Amino acid sequence: MTLLKRDSWYVISGQTKPVIICPLCGKDNLGDPAPHGVRLDGMIYNSVICENPKCTFHDFVTLEGWDRGEILHRSMASSASAGDGE
Ligand SMILES: [Zn+2]
Repeated sequence: MTLLKRDSWYVISGQTKPVIICPLCGKDNLGDPAPHGVRLDGMIYNSVICENPKCTFHDFVTLEGWDRGEILHRSMASSASAGDGE
């Protein structure tokens, strides 16, 4: 588990998901190819793998100071909206 300080993550205007600055190599992980979600307490699930192919960072990450509420995992979000109906 890695706790990312408030200055090691940010959210781009108009986006909901955070950009994570890798604690090992310093790369901004912008793409988020995996369907990550964020819990109320800032824990990201599933685990985060750095986009830098030369970097070995792979860990569960909690965002210090996360105050943007819960972001559902993509697959959970789609099933939830399907259940809510029209
Ligand atoms: Zn990295």
